[in-house]
Amino acid sequence: MPDRKTAVVTGSSSGIGLGIAEGLAAAGMNVMMNGIEPPEDVEGDRSRLEAEFSVTVAYSRANLMTPEGARSLIEAAQQTFGTVDVLVNNAGIQFVSPIEEFPDEKWQAILSLNLSAAFHTIKAAIGGMKARGWGRIINIASAHGLVASPYKSAYVAAKHGLVGLTKTIALEAAEDGVTVNAICPGYVWTPLVEKQIPDTAEARGITEEEVKRDVLLAAQPTKNFVTVDEMAALAVFLCSDGAASITGTALPVDGGWTAQ
Ligand code: NAD
Repeated sequence: MPDRKTAVVTGSSSGIGLGIAEGLAAAGMNVMMNGIEPPEDVEGDRSRLEAEFSVTVAYSRANLMTPEGARSLIEAAQQTFGTVDVLVNNAGIQFVSPIEEFPDEKWQAILSLNLSAAFHTIKAAIGGMKARGWGRIINIASAHGLVASPYKSAYVAAKHGLVGLTKTIALEAAEDGVTVNAICPGYVWTPLVEKQIPDTAEARGITEEEVKRDVLLAAQPTKNFVTVDEMAALAVFLCSDGAASITGTALPVDGGWTAQ
């Protein structure tokens, strides 16, 4: 095992992925960031993490919609850093529609990115982890990996699938020092969520506070958003030696949503 571990975090140019990349860099890991944005848009965060935590941070624009794209991300990390010790499958998209009108291409895209990409990155990275006798795979599922909501057929199917994939690979790698877990967040406060609030308030004729409490957080008993820092803290813990026996789990971080 190298002294300084390397983490690949898919979809880490914004939101939860960026927070996890930052948490792992703060924990002393080199990080391969990823997203679909051009490198110049990500350079500020990449260089900030490097400078702040004295680690090496690279960025790959690999498009994870295809098996080749997913494999190329792992190859890029292996070429840059030599190993992939931690893999966080975080990239994901959403589309909301009744099934009768759900576009076939949206179904396919959500399944490709939210589920199949994790299959292909794990397939490419796990051999090295097993060979070195240490690895951590964290799949960012969702409360929707445990329970459903209407009009999110592709997302709910993909996230349930991701939880199933997590359990299966955890069993396959159980004797090799590699743990595989899913984190299942409820609503997380990200720029994407924040941006929706003024428009929703205007469209519904209610205040921004009412949008947060009665619309977005209707299913989240704490009535608080999960924070990106909380997501990062759990990811860092799952990478620690203290979490060596935690594998095959789907950990809700959802303010009580799935307790109902
Ligand atoms: P986000 O939209 O802020 O970030 C998505 C990331 O995925 C970006 O870095 C983007 O570049 C990347 N991405 C998109 N398409 C890609 C592609 N084809 N190839 C490679 N990268 C691609 O999203 P977020 O809110 O931070 O969500 C991250 C993950 O957490 C997703 O899997 C999402 O389903 C899950 N999640 C989010 C919430 C929430 O409330 N935000 C709740 C539950 C689960």
